[in-house]
Amino acid sequence: MTPSRDTRAGLFLDRDGTIIADAGFLSDPAGVVLLAGAKEALHRALRSHRLYLFSNQSGIGRGYYTLAQALAVNARMEALLALPPPGFSAVCLAPEAPEAPAVYRKPSPRFIRECIEKDGLDPARCWMVGDRLSDLQAGVNAGIRAALVRNPDHFSEEVRLFCQTHGLPAFDSLAQAVAAVL
Ligand SMILES: [Mg+2]
Repeated sequence: MTPSRDTRAGLFLDRDGTIIADAGFLSDPAGVVLLAGAKEALHRALRSHRLYLFSNQSGIGRGYYTLAQALAVNARMEALLALPPPGFSAVCLAPEAPEAPAVYRKPSPRFIRECIEKDGLDPARCWMVGDRLSDLQAGVNAGIRAALVRNPDHFSEEVRLFCQTHGLPAFDSLAQAVAAVL
């Protein structure tokens, strides 16, 4: 079923507001809702790309919920996505609070760079897709391509200008982004 997967191509995905509805500091697996078309888009993307989940979860650093709760939310999302193996090649939940020194927290490119190194990815064939400025910045900082999934809650003049300056495409959904860029 997957003869054409390019093991050097990677799709780095934001979670909240990109794959699942952004409920704001989601800590209850029962609150996980896939966005329309996201499941089908990731099944399609997995046929040609390695998938990586890259999510800022400052709710951990802020003490709103635990890493275990954040992982339970992820597990629920993965159950709903029902991706065939290998599913996500790696998952990064960056736990830092915004005011704490950033290690993995986007816009840090550290997770992307580590995956490129570890899995031998070709940066020219990697994308970071997300709904916030920090997603786009992480991709640009890592030297890969980046695309915006427009979220009315986070779309701003700053985001528009960043896309314009860096020539980044913008889409209304993950499904549209995957259809266009992969
Ligand atoms: Mg997001």
